[in-house]
Amino acid sequence: MSLPTHVKYLVIGAGVHGLSTGWHLAAEQRSAGEQPDVLIVDKAGVGAGASGIACGVIRNNYYQPAMSELMAANVEVWEQDPEGFSYHPCGYMALGAERQISDLSEVHERQQRIGYPSDLIVGEAQVRAHMRGLFPDWRAEGVHVCLHEHKGGYANNMRAMHGVAAKARQAGARIADGVRVTGFAFDNSGAVTTVHTDQGEISVEQVVVGVGPWVESIWSMLGLPDRLDVRTPSGDVHRDQPMWTYWYLQEGEIGVDPGMFVLPDGSMPPVIHVDSDAPLYDDDGRLITDEFWGNYFHQDLHGVQGGAAPVVVGQEFEVDPYPTATVDPAFADMWCASLSHCLERFAGKRGTYKNVRSGGVGCFTVDSFPVFDYMRPNVYVVADSNHGFKMLGVGREVARVMTGGHSTLLHPFRYERFATGDLHPVSNSPYPWS
Ligand SMILES: Cc1cc2nc3c(=O)[nH]c(=O)nc-3n(C[C@H](O)[C@H](O)[C@H](O)COP(=O)(O)OP(=O)(O)OC[C@H]3O[C@@H](n4cnc5c(N)ncnc54)[C@H](O)[C@@H]3O)c2cc1C
Repeated sequence: MSLPTHVKYLVIGAGVHGLSTGWHLAAEQRSAGEQPDVLIVDKAGVGAGASGIACGVIRNNYYQPAMSELMAANVEVWEQDPEGFSYHPCGYMALGAERQISDLSEVHERQQRIGYPSDLIVGEAQVRAHMRGLFPDWRAEGVHVCLHEHKGGYANNMRAMHGVAAKARQAGARIADGVRVTGFAFDNSGAVTTVHTDQGEISVEQVVVGVGPWVESIWSMLGLPDRLDVRTPSGDVHRDQPMWTYWYLQEGEIGVDPGMFVLPDGSMPPVIHVDSDAPLYDDDGRLITDEFWGNYFHQDLHGVQGGAAPVVVGQEFEVDPYPTATVDPAFADMWCASLSHCLERFAGKRGTYKNVRSGGVGCFTVDSFPVFDYMRPNVYVVADSNHGFKMLGVGREVARVMTGGHSTLLHPFRYERFATGDLHPVSNSPYPWS
């Protein structure tokens, strides 16, 4: 495809955010009677970044009210076309240790208020009974609370991205693969006038940045600060904090018949996420860890896919070629032991662990929550802090803002919160994104 010399909306990145924003911008233009003028460019192609490798879990469970309300809106967009998005609305279960009862109870209360259907089960014996009703071989220890969400589930990563790309094209957006953005030209107000790419220059009216783990490079091309002062809700100011930190997401798969991980009636089970402080042993009785551990898993096309808590990489990371680096060598033992700890059917399955393209790096903001904001007068940055495969609806909200509307859902994620102290509350989960 030859590149135009001018577009109204230039979207950088063909991951979930770029594709969804492009789709909704084109749809907004069409419904206003305009000819869509949206170009999505990607240095590689659709799903080449985190969206194409993500485990694909779609849940509401967030301790932060703003996150949970936004997630409910995202699920609505997934539900618009489950087949087109390869979305499995099988539900999601968060199972936790005693220390997580209050967090999950709060989440459940909020879900009741916003009409998101879920059940809360509290008490070790009660949780075991609930789980054995679904999985007769359930045997996890140290689990005192279960939040069972009846919406959400997961989507198959690449199939989902091709589904969203098809929506974008149908709406009238164009997608150009193999176009790398290399810089910007600005006017006196700081607005971008021209986007430089390795295939030529494009003059623009508005720009959307949806580059996932590459956000630091575009942030710096936009001349934005890589360190900042962060005011906490109590008024303390943490000076000179790094804006970005890389974490490595540890994920893997076992190659088993997907039919071995089903409910008693043969249907697809919910996605399961377990955090526990019970000692974790492998099938030979070797202690894997006696510290707080967590896992998540779901049925997949060729077996069972999931992951465990991520590891911090630091402030510097070479993102290309993506996904780079490897998981912790101990990950496969830990994750397979945790599956067997939960369900007897997974005993002895360590040998089926697959060394496939899995896991990847994510770029987290200074408070580990998204920044969705105009960072230049005409440049909207979607920096999801690695929360975002599930956030299919963020593009709809961004398009609304960029075409002159307002989004109360995105407001809590403005960059200004670091200066004003309007930060999101922090949970007792071991994950940086709960
Ligand atoms: C291993 C892993 C598992 C995950 N699991 C889940 C999960 O289960 N559920 C969930 O909700 N989230 C999950 N996430 C997080 C989620 O995948 C990301 O938050 C989300 O996909 C980011 O989407 P994005 O559109 O911002 O970026 P990406 O999907 O990374 O897309 C960015 C695109 O930008 C392109 N690009 C970069 N730089 C340039 C440039 N200079 N010029 C042109 N194009 C450029 C890239 O080629 C890429 O295609 C996971 C992340 C990882 C890494």
